[in-house]
Amino acid sequence: MSKRCPCGHVLNLTLRTVIHARKASIANVPVYTCAVCGRNEVFPGVRAELGRLVGELGSDPPLQTIAFEERHEWAKVLVDLTIRKQPMQAGAVARQTEERMNELLDLLLIASKIGDEAWKAELNGRLSQLSAQYIC
Ligand SMILES: [Zn+2]
Repeated sequence: MSKRCPCGHVLNLTLRTVIHARKASIANVPVYTCAVCGRNEVFPGVRAELGRLVGELGSDPPLQTIAFEERHEWAKVLVDLTIRKQPMQAGAVARQTEERMNELLDLLLIASKIGDEAWKAELNGRLSQLSAQYIC
């Protein structure tokens, strides 16, 4: 997963820790990084959720570390790839995404069977995070 940097080199997708207000560490945020000019761009598909999280933390958050993969399924897919020592390349990412979607769909089936509406809504939200990243 890479794209062209304005400096002419390549932006590679990586997982970075973002520090907010010097106190809150947000770990495993998908970021495009250029090794040549040092440019960092938050992956477009997670920008909105990162913004929401920063808004919730406010300007004076307590000292803490937040696992961004618990907030966004796309970060979870990339973290799982890293754990499996898979490259962050389109094919591997697509496979891991499909696997996670199948897991979520299985859970959705269970949630539907037991009629747990809150759980269903949460799972649908997670599924939409995974499909939205291709649009962005
Ligand atoms: Zn660059």
